[in-house]
Amino acid sequence: MILAANFKSNHTRAKTAAYLEALEAFVVAQEIHDEIIIFPPATALMQKSLHVKVGAQNAFAVQNGAFTGEIALEQLEEFGIKTILLGHSERRHVLGESQELIAEKFSFYKEKGFRIVYCIGEPLEVREEGNEALLEYLEGQYEGIDFGYDNLIIAYEPVWAIGSGLTPTEDDIVLIHGAIKKVHNKPLLYGGSVKKDNARAILGLDNVDGILVGSGALDVNDFLAMIKDAKDINKGVE
Ligand code: PEP
Repeated sequence: MILAANFKSNHTRAKTAAYLEALEAFVVAQEIHDEIIIFPPATALMQKSLHVKVGAQNAFAVQNGAFTGEIALEQLEEFGIKTILLGHSERRHVLGESQELIAEKFSFYKEKGFRIVYCIGEPLEVREEGNEALLEYLEGQYEGIDFGYDNLIIAYEPVWAIGSGLTPTEDDIVLIHGAIKKVHNKPLLYGGSVKKDNARAILGLDNVDGILVGSGALDVNDFLAMIKDAKDINKGVE
């Protein structure tokens, strides 16, 4: 399974270093074989540890240049970063990133061989229109994206579930993930209000290959509990 933590604009460099250290120690001690990724803010990017990947939450689709406020490939290379989160709903809906810009970033970081976690998800008004409208909306987020790319992970994150404490029903997660997997057979994470209390149930669902967690993973101990849940599920522990 794949477990990823998105810090968003939380945690300092020092806190991220302590988090990564705790994570690495746990993964080694517990002999975890799942893929673990953290996405700290840009100021806390650092070399990955032996068993935990560190990814960027965003970067511009250039080597370097005049793009005030953005970071680019050069800044990622400094820390050996080879993983990136693209298409996150906060970048789409709060920061106004278009599908065209996201696709441009995707192509650029694909060319560079990055592991890409590509987020898709519908807003509440679309969810309320039903499954057909939902899947049609997601198709818009497939535009310009090479889903044949080997180093791709998809994260299905309903916009209305992110940071809200709401999640789709388990049946809906299985259904939507099944429909997405039919079109794009890639590792598929669920994201949106995953917490230590619901992670085990979600990780155990059909068509769910892992989770992308925001606020619920800010405390490293909560993320460790989720990693332990995944390990138990791998082993078939109830
Ligand atoms: C996210 O930021 O990708 C996310 C899923 O956030 P949260 O877990 O806080 O809903």
